[in-house]
Amino acid sequence: MPERMHVFSEEIDSLADAVVRFARWRARLDPVPLGRPRTEAELEAACGPTVTPEGIGGQRALQLFAEELAPACLSIDHRRYLSFVPNAPTEAAVLFDLIVGSFSIYGGSWLEGAGAIHAENEALRWLTDLCGLPPQSGGVFVAGGTMGNLSALVGARGAAEARLGRLGRPRPHRWILLTSSAAHSSVSAAARVMDVDVEVVPCDEDRRLRGPAVEAAIDRLGDRVVGVVATAGTTNLGVVDDLASVGEVCRRREVFLHVDAAYGGAALTLPELRPHFAGIELADSVIIDPHKWLFSPFDCCALLWRDPDHARAVHTQHAGYLDFLNDHGGWNPSDFAIHLTRRARGLPFWFSLATYGTDAYTNAVRATVTVADKAAAMIEESPHLHLVWPRALSIVVFERIGWEADDYQAWTVKALHDGTAFVVPSIHDGRPVLRFCFVNPRTSVEDVAVIIDSLA
Ligand SMILES: *Cc1c(COP(=O)(O)O)cnc(C)c1O
Repeated sequence: MPERMHVFSEEIDSLADAVVRFARWRARLDPVPLGRPRTEAELEAACGPTVTPEGIGGQRALQLFAEELAPACLSIDHRRYLSFVPNAPTEAAVLFDLIVGSFSIYGGSWLEGAGAIHAENEALRWLTDLCGLPPQSGGVFVAGGTMGNLSALVGARGAAEARLGRLGRPRPHRWILLTSSAAHSSVSAAARVMDVDVEVVPCDEDRRLRGPAVEAAIDRLGDRVVGVVATAGTTNLGVVDDLASVGEVCRRREVFLHVDAAYGGAALTLPELRPHFAGIELADSVIIDPHKWLFSPFDCCALLWRDPDHARAVHTQHAGYLDFLNDHGGWNPSDFAIHLTRRARGLPFWFSLATYGTDAYTNAVRATVTVADKAAAMIEESPHLHLVWPRALSIVVFERIGWEADDYQAWTVKALHDGTAFVVPSIHDGRPVLRFCFVNPRTSVEDVAVIIDSLA
């Protein structure tokens, strides 16, 4: 007889009702409350000890979560949460996340997870097609852009080592990664993990990395270059590097090109914005985070490889206990990144794509760009505000005339605490600014007006 934790008793049956009812209530809630951070002492006082030798019971734990813990978490899908890159999962994706959790699926190997992996691969194929990568390309869903970038750059180093090996040249004493100053913080974090240096390649006035500057750096650094990271949608401004010229140089000089489209990749769904991404098809690897602008729940980053065999050579883990899986063949997602055990985290995204169709994605992404465009126009018309950069993708960056860093901080804290909005200050050219990032199709022009009015 299993112990009570593994028995679906009558008590658990009623807990199941309560859990599903609660999840359904949150899914239907509109508008959602913004939520509010609380101190550790406040939460401790409100909840009391929750992990005890006897347990406090599921109903009580659920009640504490509903009444004390959940309200102390910000709703990232709140329509006036415009900080960082928010998240606004579709209704179908949220529902399917419950199912992924209720099945015991091992998403690391085809042998164990074929059905789930087949579905995930359908979603990945949509993304590789949007990028224009070749038919043999493919990838895996990892936890986030940070893991995606690190796994991709380990792949870049593998390619650089292989190339020097082929040419009979020695490995350099130190590797150097080329990227722009606007690359995401996770790129330098990955470089630190890998113990490689980063060289910032200068951009033009428009902040786009271009081929000639990359080539000049390759000329200077030679075999020390481990790869190039171009960004398709920088986090602060939404700028897309000149992927065509960077890609051409990387191809000609046999240097690995990784394109970080964690945020911006979603704009590939819009024919009118696709030209900004020309050249992405030359990438050796690409990341796109469906948990950013493609309406998947956390956490979900698509890591795409032009040459999956190369990724396998770099990332497959080997051990006696894994031989059976490795010999069995098929598409083993474990082979394509730094991980082994894996939640089939691409399934909610797949279910949503299957439910609504890709045209609905195009329309929803377009709706957010339209609101961003109108927000930029409203800011330009507001005498107390100044647009510091032309709207790019769905990001709008502006300043409140006359404000210094402390004023921005105070406004952000007040807007959060009175439940109006969550918009944190950022920095542009050394100056504090405000930044809106629109990924939530529920955000309306009226929501933007509420925020703009509160800045008067
Ligand atoms: C958000 C972001 C990342 C990091 O992704 P996480 O999923 O937060 O780890 C990487 N690159 C860019 C351009 C991003 O915007």
